[in-house]
Amino acid sequence: MSSLPVLVLNSGSSSIKFSVYEAGDGARTRLFEGAVDGIGTDLGKFWIKDASGKKLVDETPALPTRAVAFKLVSDALHSGHFPVPAAIGHRMVCGGPTVLENQIITPALIDEMESYTAFAPLHTPIAVYIMRESLRLFPGVPNFVCLDSYFHRTMPEVVTHMPIPSEYATMGVRRFGAHGISYESIVHQLQPNVPEKLIVAHLGNGASISAIRNGKCLDTSMGLTPTGGIISGTRTGDIDPGVLLFILRKIAETAESATDAADQLEVVASKKAGLLGVSELSNDMRDLRDAIKEGNAKARLAVDKFVWTIQKWIGSFFVELGGLDMLVFTGGIGENDIVSRAEICAGLGALGIKNDSARNNVRGEATISAGDSAVTVRVIPPAEDLIIVNHVVRLLGN
Ligand code: ADP
Repeated sequence: MSSLPVLVLNSGSSSIKFSVYEAGDGARTRLFEGAVDGIGTDLGKFWIKDASGKKLVDETPALPTRAVAFKLVSDALHSGHFPVPAAIGHRMVCGGPTVLENQIITPALIDEMESYTAFAPLHTPIAVYIMRESLRLFPGVPNFVCLDSYFHRTMPEVVTHMPIPSEYATMGVRRFGAHGISYESIVHQLQPNVPEKLIVAHLGNGASISAIRNGKCLDTSMGLTPTGGIISGTRTGDIDPGVLLFILRKIAETAESATDAADQLEVVASKKAGLLGVSELSNDMRDLRDAIKEGNAKARLAVDKFVWTIQKWIGSFFVELGGLDMLVFTGGIGENDIVSRAEICAGLGALGIKNDSARNNVRGEATISAGDSAVTVRVIPPAEDLIIVNHVVRLLGN
């Protein structure tokens, strides 16, 4: 295969990240990367770097809407400074129960995935907007969807099935998991020595954990939506359904309609809860760590809850896997927050996990377990864009 420029578009709830790779004959070279971040604010960030890390764009524009944000990206990509992409890969959290495979994007496929917006309500609207814009702005260029839920497709039915009346299950309600492209990238980076029993903790603004046996997903903490599982920046994680009903009834006393009440409940569970809700300060781990140093008890409680739920999930995955060979930390907190890793590992001695404080005192890739730890503990940054490029190249070949 000759070398092809591949564009990767990876949208989050308030950011659009992108990168351009040169892909050919197994080689993958990143030429550029960039992001617009802070969508919905007056002071966003827009930057583009070349392969040497030199900043080509570094701006702080107002980003009132996703349309304004994506226009910055598409104008830059059409400026003549970047190669015209031969193919485009889009990250998508969840395409619903009928779209489980990575595949070429058509307008009909976008409509189908959009009909399951409720399964990733913070992520799907921006992702489908960018897909439609990308088909319009890059006519003739094949666009492919790469799903986070793709990695979780190997989970057995006992894991994916929800204990609800079957009429809702037939509407597609089940566990899909999220962060699948990150997990796939960790397994990819561990090859050819992927341990049999592996737990990966993806700890970012959104946080989840997966149990992986022989490179295949066995279980994951997130459920139908990325709101489930462990507590994260602004999301509840798993919670007694009675709590949501209690809040819903309170909201319903003043809501304008049933839809309004549901929307308000979603904001509470997905945007106002988690680390932010408990600390009443911030969803950002760096702010919480600073506040803890100053004696802020609510920040301490928020982080303690974060650590506690992660330990519980790791404990249950240990049982499910029948032991553990390796624990990997990834995501912004997993890669950078030395104290969170130390606190999580400190409670996992019963599983044979022993952290080495000197080895743990790093940011980025490292082995941080002690020499006599029964479980290897590593930090591995995710390489999601590379996985998307690999899928695009494979699907182009098909
Ligand atoms: P997203 O889910 O939005 O991709 P990231 O993976 O970038 O999020 O992770 C963001 C989280 O990582 C934030 O809570 C942030 O505070 C945390 N983080 C980033 N750098 C550090 C650091 N040096 N120390 C502690 N936490 C950090």
